[in-house]
Amino acid sequence: MIEYYWQAVQEKVCKKCIDGDGRGICRLSGIDECGLKLHFPKILDTVLSVTSDTMEPYIEALRKNVCSQCKHQSPDGKCSFRASVDCGLDRYFPLIVETIEEVHKKNITELLT
Ligand code: SF4
Ligand code: SF4
Repeated sequence: MIEYYWQAVQEKVCKKCIDGDGRGICRLSGIDECGLKLHFPKILDTVLSVTSDTMEPYIEALRKNVCSQCKHQSPDGKCSFRASVDCGLDRYFPLIVETIEEVHKKNITELLT
């Protein structure tokens, strides 16, 4: 099931990303690996735990559940990657939320029909 969400994110987000190869495959690895790829199971749970018309609660949950575990965030909650717009997860987070919720709604509809 998680692969279904990941494929949708690659299609909608990674294909547009400046750090992707234009076909949805990420070009970053090692120390530069994107938080989206690295923390995807937790990101999925985080997004699906929130229901809101605004982005703030999603961002708050992301910082609490994912950024707090990320090696790029300092104990005072600052992140140099985020500050320099180098984190793909942070850069495309609204589109990531939209994509995950679309897939989730589609899954629920299919289960009910
Ligand atoms: S940097 Fe993140 S958003 Fe961009 S292609 Fe890689 S995994 Fe996708
Ligand atoms: S915004 Fe910073 S702390 Fe959060 S996932 Fe991206 S690199 Fe990690």
